[in-house]
Amino acid sequence: MRAIKEILAGARAGDRLTEGEALTLLSAKGREIFDICRAADELREEKVGPTVTFVRNQNIHLTNICKNLCGFCAFGRRATDEGAFCDDPETLRNKVRQARKNRVTEICLLSGVHPDFDASRYAGILSCVRETAPGIHIHAFSPDEVSHAAARSGLTTREVLEMLKNAGLGSLQGTAAEILVDSVREVICPSKVSTAEWVRIIREAHALGIFSTATIMYGSCETAADRITHLSILRDIQDKTGGFSELVPLSFLHQNTRLYLQGLAPAGATGREDLLMIAVSRLFLDNFQNIQVPWGKVGLKLAQLALQSGANDLAGTMFSDDVSGSAGALGADYFDPAEMERICRDIGRTLRQRLTDYTLV
Ligand code: SF4
Repeated sequence: MRAIKEILAGARAGDRLTEGEALTLLSAKGREIFDICRAADELREEKVGPTVTFVRNQNIHLTNICKNLCGFCAFGRRATDEGAFCDDPETLRNKVRQARKNRVTEICLLSGVHPDFDASRYAGILSCVRETAPGIHIHAFSPDEVSHAAARSGLTTREVLEMLKNAGLGSLQGTAAEILVDSVREVICPSKVSTAEWVRIIREAHALGIFSTATIMYGSCETAADRITHLSILRDIQDKTGGFSELVPLSFLHQNTRLYLQGLAPAGATGREDLLMIAVSRLFLDNFQNIQVPWGKVGLKLAQLALQSGANDLAGTMFSDDVSGSAGALGADYFDPAEMERICRDIGRTLRQRLTDYTLV
């Protein structure tokens, strides 16, 4: 096994890291962490330059009623639970009008997987958003929602994706990936699609010209080796389709979640793990252009350091994030671009607004 120094030299010279090498990097402790972050930062500079990007977007939560009730989530509810909600079309339109007032270029629909929603309902939601805010990119729905809509409507997932595309879907969310290792999924999200199903639906979407994000939700019940297996699956898909716009590493927010409260998961990832997740992702995912820092999950100060560890994108303005808020995150709702600019300027970088597909505004 090569030492960390040699692995980093190889990566800087353009070698593709093996899973074993990535695991060695992800397991680093002590001051070697900073060598890894530095190598990732240099690679980021070479690949995408000094610009830090963000998208002016708004999350819209349509419902928190969810068939899955994942152990790592404090947002999903049963229909009969206190606080359960499901917007009627007029409430949805009002939320979309508010997003227009906020001058967003992207609306992100982020909701529970409602047991009653079928393909027509999902397509109807998209049409409603498109009619209320024509021209705004709609980033919506996970492979799990696509699979659910297909099962409810007696359609194939490909047919559902085509329906959603025709109704206005701009890009698919690469969420519901969590950790793409079935033994981990059995513990953290047993009701969600399997690894194979997630991969199949994402590849179908990419083949239909629907690009997507890629995500990893780390810091709950998985091992470092599971994280690398997950990244390896993403790298393999990207080799075949080129349809991922970015990696979004989502650090587990533990406070109000069942997994944590029952002692099945630790209190989230540590700062070392957060920085190494970003850095190793940049080094291992040699076919990804963009590595994002979800500031709502790691906080603004660590987000700034992540920008010096391989990341080049600060995600979006969001305006609301009830998913992170329910789990216990503070200040995860809105990130003022003026504040983004301040933390970028402080490390000698320039902030630029982008669209969902990374075209600069
Ligand atoms: S993570 Fe998503 S699918 Fe899982 S319970 Fe929460 S809202 Fe539902």
